[in-house]
Amino acid sequence: MSDYTLGLHDLGDGCHAWLQPDGGWGWSNSGLITGGGTSLMVDTLFDLALTQRMLDGITSVTDANPLTTLVNTHSDGDHTHGNELLAARDVEIVATEAAAALISQEEVDMLAAAKKLPDGRGDFVRAVFGAFEFEGITATPPHRTFTGETSLDVGGREVRLIQVGPAHTPGDAIVHVPDARLVYAGDVLFIGGTPIVWAGPVGRWVAACERMLDLDADRYVPGHGPVGSKSDVERVREYLLFVDTEARKRFDDGLDVDQAIESIDLGPWAGLNESSRIAQNVVNVYETIDPTREPIGRLGALVRIAAREGFTV
Ligand SMILES: [Zn+2]
Repeated sequence: MSDYTLGLHDLGDGCHAWLQPDGGWGWSNSGLITGGGTSLMVDTLFDLALTQRMLDGITSVTDANPLTTLVNTHSDGDHTHGNELLAARDVEIVATEAAAALISQEEVDMLAAAKKLPDGRGDFVRAVFGAFEFEGITATPPHRTFTGETSLDVGGREVRLIQVGPAHTPGDAIVHVPDARLVYAGDVLFIGGTPIVWAGPVGRWVAACERMLDLDADRYVPGHGPVGSKSDVERVREYLLFVDTEARKRFDDGLDVDQAIESIDLGPWAGLNESSRIAQNVVNVYETIDPTREPIGRLGALVRIAAREGFTV
């Protein structure tokens, strides 16, 4: 297993990961798969400077194996905001249809605007996203989309794309490299950090974990955190089942969502980074049980998460 340090990690079998500790808000990972003198990238990073730093840091691989394809595992900015740099090199971008529909300039502009909010929400956004520059990013959606499953040919090597969303987001996909028994999981796998259920329902994410566990693979590159194994996928599944059980219990007992969030003892899960994401996860379960609830949206979720982090919102 590679150590968790910033930069390029050779995972063997022509597969690499670009890791960005500590894997917290916005600090995402990318993947690089080579085959027959070409290479495929899995995800770009949260801003142009970080993505350029990565492109400069992987030339030892890409000079001999030029990039031809980029797969976005999902639509979130920390996996797509660098797309324009790849498109400028005539790299073909692929994602699920559902993810593609959500990659928009509006999302980029909303993040840039959130950093300027004069209230506690803005304080929180600046605290977690202060290191990232959202100004000047041109949203660059995929050139090609798919639904379900598809295979890509990377210089004669099979790379499988498997849609598992909606789970973390509406359009999640994982990238399986069968001959390396390796999976690039995107954000259906967090290692060391707390999963956050933006789309759900939680049951679909649990099913995504089971899909990953069923694959003939023994190494998993998460969207955030160090490279792991099946036991890390199992841990995410256990966390999600814990959240689902605890939130449903409180819904049945008539607690409102804030009382539910407040009263859950995270127990062993309290040690995960970003544990305050429990707030959004409970909200998501409540919205699943009662689809007539007005969705609180991402800013509404940030308010609750920020409050748990001690920000005045
Ligand atoms: Zn992410």
